[in-house]
Amino acid sequence: MTDSLDLTGAVCPIPLPHNEQIVLGHGSGGKMAADLIAKTFLPAFDNPALRAGDDGAVVEVPPGKLVLSTDSHVVSPLFFPGGDIGHLAVCGTVNDLAVMGATPLYLTAGFILEEGLPLDTLQRIVHSMRAAAEEAGVQIVSGDTKVVQRGKADGVYIATAGVGVLPPGRQLGGAQAQPGDVVLLSGPMGDHGIAVLAARGELGFETDIHSDCAPLNGLIARLLAACPDVHVLRDPTRGGVATTLNEIARQSGVGITLFEKNLPVRPAVAAVCEMLGFDPLYVANEGKVLVILPRQSADRALEALRASKEGREAVLIGEVTATPPGRVLMKTAIGSTRVVDMLAGELLPRIC
Ligand code: MG
Repeated sequence: MTDSLDLTGAVCPIPLPHNEQIVLGHGSGGKMAADLIAKTFLPAFDNPALRAGDDGAVVEVPPGKLVLSTDSHVVSPLFFPGGDIGHLAVCGTVNDLAVMGATPLYLTAGFILEEGLPLDTLQRIVHSMRAAAEEAGVQIVSGDTKVVQRGKADGVYIATAGVGVLPPGRQLGGAQAQPGDVVLLSGPMGDHGIAVLAARGELGFETDIHSDCAPLNGLIARLLAACPDVHVLRDPTRGGVATTLNEIARQSGVGITLFEKNLPVRPAVAAVCEMLGFDPLYVANEGKVLVILPRQSADRALEALRASKEGREAVLIGEVTATPPGRVLMKTAIGSTRVVDMLAGELLPRIC
């Protein structure tokens, strides 16, 4: 038994063709990478621009201004009730385009994969992206895959970029809120943040809270058709409704007053928040939109929002005032007024 070779930890120089896990070769740009594209990404995202296999996607765009947006997704865990990192990556970018008033058309996706990621996990994520893209009516026309060594990432990260077209004459933005406007919210706050937190198993008990993650471009298109006088749309993601409204108040140089009794929160989300000392006003949403528009259009806007499943629980939550510029206040349920500040620091890391 002398001279026996110890093969423990030896590296096979040629990766097997049917790896069940992501290996460094999948990011090589060579045959394994081509296989991964041909077997995983192309069948799911298939469209002429992607199929062409060139360095960039050539796409048709209707008349209007281009709107571009980009976002990175590092959510943990990768799967949670109501969504997963792929669904989130598509919806997040679609919604950032939609709240600009643009029609989202095309996305690109960059994948950072950790060596050892099960291939079927990637498949599930990719199929979820495809389903979200189909629901939103967008195409994923270009992509990239890189693989990093085990321990250098956490399964998968996805960076998406999107292109949309702003119809001629439409102009929405955070600087356009005006005194006399009202603030609408398309549904209850905090579902996404609390659903992801619960999925980490750190609460110590089960909840049935689902993320609200959804593409909102359909809802927003119907809203804008009914109410072309909308001044501001924004999705209250990280930092929640409170932080998003503070951004708008600063951009527009106006005050915003919230009515505490109108703020929508599901009882289960409120219960978790109370237990953990969170304020749902600061918890992230991934399928909600804030709408700021002239008061006389509020009823029409609420009707338009409530006609879609994503906006069924839309409510009026506040009003825009001339003073104090750049501040958000809240009229509390007991009749007092308090300042609602921006989120300081990070409430929940890696929720999107
Ligand atoms: Mg946004």
